[in-house]
Amino acid sequence: MKDIINIEEIFGENAFTLGKMRERLPKDVFEEVVRVADFGGELSKKTADIVANEMKDWAIEKGATHYTHWFQPLTGTTAEKHDSFITHPDSEGRMIMEFSGKELIKGESDASSFPSGGLRATFEARGYTAWDITSPAFLKEDATGTILCIPTAFCSYKGEALDKKTPLLRSMQAINEQALRVVRLFGNKDAKKVIASVGAEQEYFLVDRDMYLRRTDLIYTGRTLIGCPAAKGQEMDDHYYGCIRERIGSFMKDVNVELWKIGVTAKTQHNEVAPAQHELAPIYETANVATDHNQLVMETMKKVAERHNLACLLHEKPFKGINGSGKHNNWSLNTDNGMNLLDPGDTPNENIQFLFVLACIMKAVDTHADLLRQSASDVGNDYRLGADEAPPAIISMFLGEQLDDVVKQLVETGEATHCIGNNHLETGVSSLPDLLIDPTDRNRTSPFAFTGNKFEFRMVGSADSIGDPNVILNTIVAESFCEACDRIEKADNFDEAVHDIIKEYVTKHERIVFNGNNYAPEWIEEAKRRGLPNLPTMLDAVDTLTTEKSIKLFEKFNIFTKAELESRKEILYETYSKTINIEANCLREMIKRQILPAEISYMDELAGAYNKGKAAGVEIKTAKALLEKVNGYCDGLSESIEKLEENIKEARSIKNNKEKAFAYRDKVKAAMEEVRYYSDELERITDKDFWPIPSYGDLLFEV
Ligand code: ADP
Ligand code: MG
Repeated sequence: MKDIINIEEIFGENAFTLGKMRERLPKDVFEEVVRVADFGGELSKKTADIVANEMKDWAIEKGATHYTHWFQPLTGTTAEKHDSFITHPDSEGRMIMEFSGKELIKGESDASSFPSGGLRATFEARGYTAWDITSPAFLKEDATGTILCIPTAFCSYKGEALDKKTPLLRSMQAINEQALRVVRLFGNKDAKKVIASVGAEQEYFLVDRDMYLRRTDLIYTGRTLIGCPAAKGQEMDDHYYGCIRERIGSFMKDVNVELWKIGVTAKTQHNEVAPAQHELAPIYETANVATDHNQLVMETMKKVAERHNLACLLHEKPFKGINGSGKHNNWSLNTDNGMNLLDPGDTPNENIQFLFVLACIMKAVDTHADLLRQSASDVGNDYRLGADEAPPAIISMFLGEQLDDVVKQLVETGEATHCIGNNHLETGVSSLPDLLIDPTDRNRTSPFAFTGNKFEFRMVGSADSIGDPNVILNTIVAESFCEACDRIEKADNFDEAVHDIIKEYVTKHERIVFNGNNYAPEWIEEAKRRGLPNLPTMLDAVDTLTTEKSIKLFEKFNIFTKAELESRKEILYETYSKTINIEANCLREMIKRQILPAEISYMDELAGAYNKGKAAGVEIKTAKALLEKVNGYCDGLSESIEKLEENIKEARSIKNNKEKAFAYRDKVKAAMEEVRYYSDELERITDKDFWPIPSYGDLLFEV
């Protein structure tokens, strides 16, 4: 049966968009909302009350019973506390529904159970949520009923950021101010603001929910802690862009419809490289809206998967031996009058403003490669970065042939007089059209690649918020714009000053450009020679947040105070230890309560077979040999579990957060690897009927 989906009709039907506000609000009220959304400031109390009332009426017409301030605490996920619209009944017992401007704009909640990294003592438990007027409110429809969700920022009693959104909004303000200086200097007098735009491609895995529920590692940690490879992996390249199976297709269809309804521009869907892996990409939008929407994409996927008896795995590395998942963060800067600062045009060598922007970005990325790397690190991404399929942990930039050539000319002579143009691609088939080929080819191995009119930051982990990476991108580029504009504004000759800055920046920071294969081991050596930072794991990158250079950067643009940075560091160290502790506990439990008991039964079976054979006068050598092998691995497994337990105990006893996290990385994780080795060897030789949990083959190929 074909069910007809009318996208035009459903798109945004559950979002309180500007369009709806224009329809429903008095003209002057609407104009005030737009002004504040575009240029900041506060709504008057009267306006806020009118907006709140209309928002409530609209939500109630759509069946809403509750509202919530929806925010993104430092857990990396989202938080909501529902309040119904009800008030005291009137004297005759009738319910009056109310929602005031004050309730719309500000919420107050007990923040003491959210991570604050010591920013807030427990007696200062108040936290505030503040309406982000630039991100449309939306309705969540599920078994709870219909809930009006108001995107908000979350701060402490003293105004310190306790979430992912507050610094992002601050960084968008910073890049707006500095990029406006750039476009003004280059003669654009009409632009009123510059918007950081982001499109986040989301990779994910889908597995059968019944199988998922039989694996406590997936339930507790989101990844498989043990499991030997299936007979088939991704070597045939037959899954990438492959025909989408019915069960997955019907999931994708429902996800799209849900997303379109709340105004998320779900655009592209396809099968990814690994078996059971897929991708969804929306159309890019303003950075904070894109960040909100990416959270909604992840949440919707998880919810819809359940309805299809599937489980959606967002972890960066759910399965060893095949590709993990990332989140490509496509980023560009656009004026409100339609100019993309990252668009080189057909002849980038003549586009001085573009070259200036590019030079500034090269400087920013080279100067703060450590921070950029940090922004893409989380516990799960450590299993992915540096593995075969993902960029290494070294930041470099890919520019492509055309821009690389322009940069080389600039470095050599200070001028770029020519550029490699567009070429035609001849297909050699007369019935096919010749194609105009892009001046930049793709380089899938680069962590930070120029892709035509945007940069694609590919390091970001699939489960992580895109808030942090965009805070860093916006801030570091704001800094480099600011320094360059300071110089130009003071200079007597604009052309000369611009020329000098471009030449100086590209020459000084050319080392950050690498167009080769980032997966090759030689690159690690080469990067070292160039002096580029290599921070292989999340913990190596945490302290980059509080170097003198970073504090200066963040304080200059009011993104973070030193105290906020210190608190974020504490949270990162704590999160690391807690996550690995859960993984280690879970592994121990699986081995002791599932794998070892299963192996004992299996050995009993083997011994029984051997003894029965012997009684009948036949020596079943296979049973004996297998029994000895299983027994040997079981000994290894038992010993490695004991070692793991000791190491957990040792790590747990450490008081200092940083030292503790390092102990979890160096001792506990290493012990987990050893446990896994024995368990995976056992799985390879154990009768499938005895193996107590679904295998990689079951999970990846029986979806
Ligand atoms: P690719 O296939 O090269 O990754 P796509 O065109 O599929 O590129 O885009 C991937 C993502 O990048 C999408 O989310 C898309 O909306 C986004 N994107 C495209 N252009 C821009 C831009 N100028 N700025 C930010 N994001 C963009
Ligand atoms: Mg892409």
